[in-house]
Amino acid sequence: MVELAIIYRKITWNSIYAEVFYLKILFSLYLILAVILTQFLAAYCFSKGRNSYRRTFSALVLCISVYLIGYIMIINSSNLQEMIFWNQFQYLGLPFVSVLWLLVALLHTKTINKVRSRTVILLFIVPVITFFIRITNSWHHLFYKDWEIRQFFGYYDLYMERGIWYYVHISFVILFLLLTMIIYFLAYLKHKDRYTKFHFLIFSFASLLPLAGVLLLILNSRERSIDYAALIMPISLFIISFGIFKYDFLEMRTLARETIFENNLVGMIILGPGYRIIDYNNAAKKFFRKLNISLDNSTIDHILKEEPELLETFKSETTKDISIVIDGEERFFEIDAVALGDIQVGSTKMLKTIRDVTDEKKVQKRLEVLATIDSLSGLYNRAEFMNLAQRAFVSAKKQNGELALLMMDLDQFKKINDTFGHAAGDEVIREMGRIIMNGFRKTDVAGRVGGEEFAVVLKNTSLKEAHKKAEKIRKTVAGKKVVYDGQEISFTISIGVAAICGDTDNIKGIEDILKKADEALYMAKAKGRNRVVSFGSVKEEKTVPTQLGQNTN
Ligand code: GH3
Ligand code: MG
Ligand code: MG
Repeated sequence: MVELAIIYRKITWNSIYAEVFYLKILFSLYLILAVILTQFLAAYCFSKGRNSYRRTFSALVLCISVYLIGYIMIINSSNLQEMIFWNQFQYLGLPFVSVLWLLVALLHTKTINKVRSRTVILLFIVPVITFFIRITNSWHHLFYKDWEIRQFFGYYDLYMERGIWYYVHISFVILFLLLTMIIYFLAYLKHKDRYTKFHFLIFSFASLLPLAGVLLLILNSRERSIDYAALIMPISLFIISFGIFKYDFLEMRTLARETIFENNLVGMIILGPGYRIIDYNNAAKKFFRKLNISLDNSTIDHILKEEPELLETFKSETTKDISIVIDGEERFFEIDAVALGDIQVGSTKMLKTIRDVTDEKKVQKRLEVLATIDSLSGLYNRAEFMNLAQRAFVSAKKQNGELALLMMDLDQFKKINDTFGHAAGDEVIREMGRIIMNGFRKTDVAGRVGGEEFAVVLKNTSLKEAHKKAEKIRKTVAGKKVVYDGQEISFTISIGVAAICGDTDNIKGIEDILKKADEALYMAKAKGRNRVVSFGSVKEEKTVPTQLGQNTN
């Protein structure tokens, strides 16, 4: 009976030994898989190009990798010296895991855009101290007071008595992981799009797991048995990999947004609180380089201290147009402002865009010309003439000033067309345009108001003066010859003149004066053409009897 019990006990012990042995192998395989995954994630991130986020993420997974390799070696070691060595090896990466995780979360959620040296120094103080304290532990025993190897069914475990700095280190780990989780969770709450929401929830959960592992480690009354954080970490890594690959967030969205930002032809500058330049793209860099200004991460006040006008434009929260002479050519830029995030006084976050609108401006000017100028005579078209004439009329009325209007009509123009052809008639209209343009002051408004009818508004001019001017023009026209197709064409005009003098007239608009000038013109035609008639005046110039003076070669 006793013998049977001994045999039974031997079998039981043996099977427990075997179980522990297989469990150790299984654990090791599981951790090796996680290490392979960390290496793969680091390589994947590096292959996708380098930016702050990817660099920090790669550093994180590499530190995790060092930590896990150390743990694999510890659970497979059988002597204290080896175990202490691999524990030391773990601390080459371990102190930085939580702080890098926090940085990744800050960058990933766009809480910060770039890792600044100030942030790095602040966040890394404690991890760096931990790193050195752990390396030099044998001198001061601040991290581990004592070591001991214990055996459990063929499984060797490292027991350590924790020192004061171990608790400082672990408190910071808990703090950083807690912050990481909160940052991801806030991003989850903030985003409205289901896809992005779920993505951040996954990362928040992945940060909760190592936190739970560390808490278990601390709550465990024994100094050290199993490193729960190391065991849980691979699950976190699997979740993160799932997040990265399944949702392809890292690749597609970030890359697409960065590409759009970097390669946009529109210059873009992100301004943070205090008008500090947070980020800018290539186009913005080029724009400022042309002005011999180099961009950096200082404030816009500092960068544009010698360009007060430009500074004002860049600080403005509304769209502004500026014209700048670059390489001797005037170019036009539209500087737009888009508020980023919540607008709070004193903490403006803005996206400033710089768009070269020179070509658009040129097209716009061309269109304006096409819309207002008559292509044949080069004078204003009827619509624009009426517009400007009305404006001149209103201002003359306001100032009680004088204003005169000449209505001109080519005499017997039909005959010119019939005799020399329509193209020859066009040439006469062109010549009339030139005569009018050269015959009046710059301030006068001249337009082609009908087929062969022209009108000119003379500002600050009395009826008498206008009549004189009209007479001069009539004479000029009568003395002009247009040579077309080897033929000389003479032509004449009749002119009707009307004028206002301040308030004394009961004229309401430019149409009223136009009507009067038209009536005078009608009289000029009736009286034999090639003459000037002023409305309300009997005074008219005696001229040669109307005839179509035409010489044919
Ligand atoms: P009147 O002395 O009474 O003004 O005689 P007119 O022949 O000039 O008579 P009217 O003003 O009625 O005729 C205008 C003519 O001008 C009619 C039309 O064929 C011609 N015309 C109008 N626009 C153009 C144009 O753009 N080019 C040419 N070549 N002819 C035009
Ligand atoms: Mg006519
Ligand atoms: Mg005519």
